[in-house]
Amino acid sequence: PGTKVKAKSGLNRSILNDAWHKFFTYLEYKLKLKGGILIKVNPQYTSQTCIKCGHISKDNRTEQALFKCIKCGYEANADHNAAQNILRRAGLARIACQANLVGGRQQEPSEAYNSSNIVV
Ligand SMILES: [Zn+2]
Repeated sequence: PGTKVKAKSGLNRSILNDAWHKFFTYLEYKLKLKGGILIKVNPQYTSQTCIKCGHISKDNRTEQALFKCIKCGYEANADHNAAQNILRRAGLARIACQANLVGGRQQEPSEAYNSSNIVV
């Protein structure tokens, strides 16, 4: 309802994106001061992926709070399983960076893994 809804929606999205950009810039700055690094990981399918066997399925999440793998039977708190997947992706991104440093090419962790929203 209302007028110029599409334009307002675009403006709101732009404001939100700008706020996130400022947040990440500030977070990265603070992490560098403390000796940390910012690693962005792609959150896609982290809540549907089994940390034990890697099987990805919507059916692994029949309940909101429970993760139950339909392939291997692994059960866990759904948030805990997703957090472990995020941590694994961050670790892989970091290893990729270190491997590139050994190879003589410097690479930011966020470049090593095609990233979007989640920060570790
Ligand atoms: Zn499994």
